Amino acid sequence: MSVTYGVAEYPEAATSAVELINYAEIVMFRSKSNGKGSIQYFNSEILNDFLENVVIEHKLKEAMGMNCFFLCYQPQYCTKTHILRGVEALMRWRDIDGNIISPTVFIPIAEKNNLIIPIGDWVINESLKTYAEWKAKYHYSFKLSINISAIQYKRKDFVSKLLNALKKYKVDSNDVELEITESVLIEDFDDVIQKMIMLRDYGIAVSLDDFGTGFSSLSYLKGLPINTLKIDKSFVDTIMKDEPSRIIVESIISMAQRLGYETIAEGVETKEQYEYLKSIDCDTIQGFLIGKPKTNEEMEILLSKQM
Ligand code: C2E
Ligand code: MG
Ligand code: MG
Repeated sequence: MSVTYGVAEYPEAATSAVELINYAEIVMFRSKSNGKGSIQYFNSEILNDFLENVVIEHKLKEAMGMNCFFLCYQPQYCTKTHILRGVEALMRWRDIDGNIISPTVFIPIAEKNNLIIPIGDWVINESLKTYAEWKAKYHYSFKLSINISAIQYKRKDFVSKLLNALKKYKVDSNDVELEITESVLIEDFDDVIQKMIMLRDYGIAVSLDDFGTGFSSLSYLKGLPINTLKIDKSFVDTIMKDEPSRIIVESIISMAQRLGYETIAEGVETKEQYEYLKSIDCDTIQGFLIGKPKTNEEMEILLSKQM
């Protein structure tokens, strides 16, 4: 048995008993996310974060079905040939006041209250529909990468729903890649692998996103049926600044090559980073240097130039 504590003290936190109990509970949840057995004292920053999240959660529920979401697509290029290898679908939310809310803010909230399931279904359907239109119009061969939350991936009907959507929009499963993070692997490992094998049998590729930032026991890479490792932006950010980052990135690339995985570096912002990644044989580059996330209209311009 373990205990997590949330502490709110009179009179600093609040002056009524009800408020004190409520605030203690709010900080107790923060304490829980800090790990078992921890103690968290009340502070107004935690309360403000909590209240902000409550507002976003409320708006998110309203946004469902109100056409407030849209997708952008960020191009990925072959490092050596500069050929467009694929695009990553990235979600955007325009709230009723017209503000764009980042997925880094609303996806974790949607994951907590399971709204990620209808949201994730929408992303799959919308991206496949758009991709099918582009393929029919531009006849250009490129991959579509879709981010999948761990909550979505572990659902029993995940693979069947994906296959149905592929069928509905007549998209070839070989054109699709799913981006999952290492957090997926913490769940029921056998089930995770079973699903990956099933996806592979259908020709759907799996990419490990934000590689190097998760719980990272390298032993899980043994025999993992994935296709691609995406080296996290935090390593790319520092490769021109410090030797340890270069050593880590070079090691990831040589390890990936020997395990038969493709490598993608994300968050490439400078020419120097690009040249360096090219010199160490990183297969694919994604980043603001060569392409920011694009709207559908901007993507059409890009695709028309590939013909
Ligand atoms: P991610 O999948 O690792 O996506 C890459 C993020 O890095 C994107 O942020 C992209 O805009 C940003 N990025 C790419 N190149 C650069 C660069 O050169 N410089 C900088 N500063 N940033 C760069 P974004 O679109 O804000 O998405 C953040 C995260 O939200 C994604 O990280 C992904 O984890 C999540 N996300 C986005 N869309 C979806 C979705 O449809 N479903 C799920 N489950 N998660 C999503
Ligand atoms: Mg991604
Ligand atoms: Mg990433």
